[in-house]
Amino acid sequence: QPELAGDFGILMAWADKVRRLRVRANAETPQDCQVARDFGAEGVGLCRTEHMFFDAARITAVREMILADSEKGRRAALAKLLPEQRDDFAQIFMVMAGLPVTIRLLDPPLHEFLPHGESEFEEVAKAAGVGVEALKRRAAELHEFNPMLGHRGCRLGVTYPEIYEMQARAIFEAALIVKQRSGDAPIPEIMIPLVATKKELELMKAIVDRVASEVFAEQGASVEYLVGTMIELPRAALKAGEIAEVGEFFSFGTNDLTQTTIGISRDDAGRFLTQYVDKGIFARDPFVSIDVEGVGQLIELATERGRAARPGIKLGICGEHGGDPASITFCEQTGLDYVSASPYRVPIARLAAAQAALANK
Ligand code: PEP
Ligand code: MG
Repeated sequence: QPELAGDFGILMAWADKVRRLRVRANAETPQDCQVARDFGAEGVGLCRTEHMFFDAARITAVREMILADSEKGRRAALAKLLPEQRDDFAQIFMVMAGLPVTIRLLDPPLHEFLPHGESEFEEVAKAAGVGVEALKRRAAELHEFNPMLGHRGCRLGVTYPEIYEMQARAIFEAALIVKQRSGDAPIPEIMIPLVATKKELELMKAIVDRVASEVFAEQGASVEYLVGTMIELPRAALKAGEIAEVGEFFSFGTNDLTQTTIGISRDDAGRFLTQYVDKGIFARDPFVSIDVEGVGQLIELATERGRAARPGIKLGICGEHGGDPASITFCEQTGLDYVSASPYRVPIARLAAAQAALANK
């Protein structure tokens, strides 16, 4: 652990002596990773890759890719994105220096990448060498009424496998570069979002494994890696036994798991949820503290079924709840292996993990 100054450092050192839960961070830039490490994170529990796609310098190529009307067009746009994506991961692996890094493949609804307004359409049309009208027709086809329940998560990998192929290639090429450069071989943990069925994960793992063997053969070198899944849909929690036959780790995505279990939108809940807490319908805001009675039961059930199918399967949590002390107590009681919190909440998580371990003795 890095030394933290003064009494704070002493307190953290005490916490680390008694805690059982590992503490990782949700981080997707080298800067966030550095903050996380400085606060004592023991790895990255969630590297969301969508932010990289929204980068101003890349968004046109991303739009070109999603609006292409053929696999060939998508591959041409993805080829433009590969070098930067490889660099994203190489920088993160360098900062994390051999600590585990869980990288989640692209998750958000395609809808979110659509161009808005004339000038954005014109920019994409110019880059892709097609007409604006054709692009607008294609964008209209991609419009969704309920994007958060729509074309997102592994559904992107099922319909456009070339996206996940590009990301897997970027991860393995980056890992090999860092292994050669620093000697600290990264062990990427590749995470598939929004899985509901075993078959989805099988298809996605097959893509990752195929790309891994291609890259390793091209480079004459290899790294270890894991392929696992988010558990963020009630069906995934129920079918965790089957899913664990394929997935090598689980990370509970409690933001989506809460949204889909209680059927309240995580983006709009603020409008009425305070009344729900005031009137005692929920003891606490379920998007802040795990709804132990409902969502918590699904986590317990998935833990039990996942471990029965794959003893020793690594289990973590990467929703916002991973940095919430009451939820961390629940994670300790459930026996998860780690929590992952935003970088600035890592010290709180270390402390809460220690308190939970003491209370559980
Ligand atoms: C989650 O759903 O809990 C999660 C961590 O993923 P995201 O917030 O990116 O949907
Ligand atoms: Mg999610």
